[in-house]
Amino acid sequence: MDADVIVIGAGLAGLRSARHLEQAGLAVVVVEAADAVGGRVRTDVVDGFRCDRGFQVLNPAYPAVARWIDVAALQLQDFGVGAIVRTGATTTTLAHPLRHPRHALRTITSGLLPVPDLLALARWLGPTLLDARAATRATSDETLRASLDAAGLTGRLRRDVLDTFLAGVLADSSGDASANYVRLLLRSFALGAPGLPREGMQAMPEQLAAGLREPVRLGTAAREVRDVADGVEVTTDGGALRARAAVVAVGPQHVADLTPLRAPETHGLTTWWFRATGEPRTGPFLLLDASRPGGGPAGPVWNTAVISEAAPSYAPPGQHLVQATTLLGEPDGHAGEHEVRRDLARLYGTATARWEVLAHHVVHHTLPAQAPGPIRRGPIWTGERVLVTGDHRETASIQGALVAGEHAGAAVAARLAG
Ligand SMILES: Cc1cc2nc3c(=O)[nH]c(=O)nc-3n(C[C@H](O)[C@H](O)[C@H](O)COP(=O)(O)OP(=O)(O)OC[C@H]3O[C@@H](n4cnc5c(N)ncnc54)[C@H](O)[C@@H]3O)c2cc1C
Repeated sequence: MDADVIVIGAGLAGLRSARHLEQAGLAVVVVEAADAVGGRVRTDVVDGFRCDRGFQVLNPAYPAVARWIDVAALQLQDFGVGAIVRTGATTTTLAHPLRHPRHALRTITSGLLPVPDLLALARWLGPTLLDARAATRATSDETLRASLDAAGLTGRLRRDVLDTFLAGVLADSSGDASANYVRLLLRSFALGAPGLPREGMQAMPEQLAAGLREPVRLGTAAREVRDVADGVEVTTDGGALRARAAVVAVGPQHVADLTPLRAPETHGLTTWWFRATGEPRTGPFLLLDASRPGGGPAGPVWNTAVISEAAPSYAPPGQHLVQATTLLGEPDGHAGEHEVRRDLARLYGTATARWEVLAHHVVHHTLPAQAPGPIRRGPIWTGERVLVTGDHRETASIQGALVAGEHAGAAVAARLAG
């Protein structure tokens, strides 16, 4: 035997699973196909700029993050709690009135927060805000679109703010996601101030990996997993490995490569990273474009931000890093550099011709589609000793991936204990 358990995939789910198994006293080997740990949470350093592989943020209000990540060590740099909303020629900053009091009056009088919408939002989200179990243990669920319609949340807060913001968060503008899942996401945004680690998002999975006794075997793809008489055999690029059990934590698009399960549906997005000239000043807020009549952006960019305003460590001193997100499910999701640059000129009201593209990440499988239904499905056994996990078995998020890993580790430890 090479180990008690082989964990395949060193994303957040695989790493959390390995940590749990080691804490249970088991010998664990983690194999990872890529050249570093992190899976969908990776950071490229380009000319001194930190470009995450797809714009994302870490929310310290996620219970799993608070429990298993040393957030203080990551030195989070906070985004503003709010957003800048562009509607046609008008730009409005909506911000948390207590955290950003200087924007309070403008926020209240913006016209983007009609009282009937606010009351409907309070009814729709209130129970989950008070207790997450209102969503996780709900016996019924429906699509986000149907649920917001039924709640009467149909005005500008919905059309110009929520729908546009959520499309970027879900990598999907259809409104078909689970309403309960979105309630949980909004709860986290309401309770925490998301931010970016000083060294980039990849610092989070690296912290998990650093706590493992046995280093992750990088550049080692698993090709086959099968039950054998006394456990499992995993064929890898580095040879065959034997263990008493295996955890398959490979991300939704690869599940079918190694197991009889069908690959879950996913949604994708792209992130453009620019070195911006001039001084695009939006403060530490995400800028949402809701300029299309009826909601959504007038161009390919759904949201953008001057990342270095919120996270100075993401750019060399005195320089500006801008991200722009397009959605692959939209007709213009693959818009080229020229169109994105033109769109950003409109959104920031400044010339962007000299902005330099640092990176363009096309992330086809950003998130598993979270259709209405039970929020927590749990890991699934596909063999006597083979367990499949990942964010697609929980909620499509950092929180979901960590919890999925924890549950898988606990289930395998229990089975091996007899
Ligand atoms: C652009 C983007 C933005 C996001 N924004 C947010 C956000 O703001 N907030 C939030 O909460 N979540 C966000 N997420 C989601 C979050 O990052 C994921 O839910 C989470 O990282 C998934 O972790 P995972 O371990 O389940 O899967 P993955 O990260 O996909 O890990 C799977 C790992 O398995 C490896 N692997 C695959 N096949 C094999 C094989 N055959 N052998 C060995 N290894 C293999 C892969 O290389 C990978 O490292 C975002 C994701 C992306 C991509």
